[in-house]
Amino acid sequence: MSFINCAIPNCIYQALVERGRCGLCCRQYCFYHLNDPVHHCCILRKTNKWPGISLLKMKEPEISQLLSLLDEKVIVSEIETYIPDHKVTKVHIKSTEDTIVELRGGFDLLIKIDLEDVGGQSQSWFMRIRKRSSGRPYPDEVLRMNLESEVATCQALFEGGVDVPQTFPRPGDSKQHPKLIYCYQSFIPGDAWPPFDPVTKFNDPPNPPVDYLTLNHIKSVAKWFIQLEKVQFDKIGSPSFDTSGKIMVGPLVEGEPTKAIPPYFDGPFTSLKERYLNVIDSKLRLLRNRELVGPDSEIYSYLVLLELREIVENVKELEKKKGPFYVRHADDHSDHCRATEDGEVMGVIDWEWAYTTSKEEAFSSPDTLLPRVLSRTDDDHILTHREEALIQAYESLNRPDLAECVREGRKYSRLMRCLHHAWASIHDIRAMRKGFKVDLVAGEAYPTEESKEDWVERMKLKYADDEGLKWVLDNPVFEPELPEECLEVK
Ligand SMILES: [Zn+2]
Ligand SMILES: [Zn+2]
Repeated sequence: MSFINCAIPNCIYQALVERGRCGLCCRQYCFYHLNDPVHHCCILRKTNKWPGISLLKMKEPEISQLLSLLDEKVIVSEIETYIPDHKVTKVHIKSTEDTIVELRGGFDLLIKIDLEDVGGQSQSWFMRIRKRSSGRPYPDEVLRMNLESEVATCQALFEGGVDVPQTFPRPGDSKQHPKLIYCYQSFIPGDAWPPFDPVTKFNDPPNPPVDYLTLNHIKSVAKWFIQLEKVQFDKIGSPSFDTSGKIMVGPLVEGEPTKAIPPYFDGPFTSLKERYLNVIDSKLRLLRNRELVGPDSEIYSYLVLLELREIVENVKELEKKKGPFYVRHADDHSDHCRATEDGEVMGVIDWEWAYTTSKEEAFSSPDTLLPRVLSRTDDDHILTHREEALIQAYESLNRPDLAECVREGRKYSRLMRCLHHAWASIHDIRAMRKGFKVDLVAGEAYPTEESKEDWVERMKLKYADDEGLKWVLDNPVFEPELPEECLEVK
């Protein structure tokens, strides 16, 4: 089974792996139909007649369908089997409307389950059910692999003493409907740390000051990372289960799969260089197949990936094959770190797409401490007060090695982000070349200032012999003209 096909009837091309979803009809389109008038929404978009979209339309009919497939009695029996001596007191299955209003995050539908033990002590768990309406054209098999890797990651970390949710998979003999891809997780109390909230952050000055309570929070974050450091792996990939149920490192189960057909994910890998080159080459292949991004971004993405390839090829430290390797959260925004009002970290949630990597990448700063728009600067010498606070916290905890991972970590933050989305700003590329000292090795002085247009032209010359780039440049796709009558669409 491959990724889903384009939504145009009888089109057998695959929907784009990234940015192929129309924000209006919520369907997924191939390279050729995303901006073609046969996909009617693009006429509305181009003629500024975009009517907006309701939350209900974005989530339905999936949510009411998932809710109708749920068997409450099975939830009760499964969770009481997993957590002996506890009785379920309530399963919070709400109406479709209330469920949609309360949805958090893009990937899961959460069902809260309250339990009580024999002494009357209560606790809560969640059933986490994967949604398909997340905007990505995955088949169910990919979601199952992703969920299995999340369960394995959480179990490895929980058993290693890290504050993450206790997690159990869907039982092998579950009586729930097979369309329900889910696991059970214990509830982690606390909230996102308010100053790091993305809404607040949007209005932040470029380098917000750090108050006393935030310092306390960041020190608690440092202690949490020191817990994380105790759980180590021998390869680069994603935690998974072997046939006997033992946790091991399997293929790298990324949020942006590098293949649209089985096995979907490659790995495990023995060095960062091997892993990065695999991702870069797989995405270049998807671009040549016109399966990654739409016509507007393909040349820019292609050139970015070629530059990332040159960076990775020229950095000796990425060739290191010796572990240990550590888990990195793939989406470490503020909402996933739950803390008390005093800033103490209670745990970190939402481990889908997590992977194992080198110490330098795993302990580079969490995204929440980085500048709001890192891609608009290439100066990685000036750190934010928040990054400085994490460095000081590690030093006060006698961990100068982890402080160094933060001080030198921006190049990894940039590389992780750029590889995920096959996109980088010119600032990102310049900063990575400086950080990894690539200009010295590659013998090329990168201009200190350069417009995007100049950069694109320079790169086209630099990679003029690249066969894939030549093909993409020689086979441009022009946006179809809108038919006359379309311009009158109301
Ligand atoms: Zn559409
Ligand atoms: Zn199509």
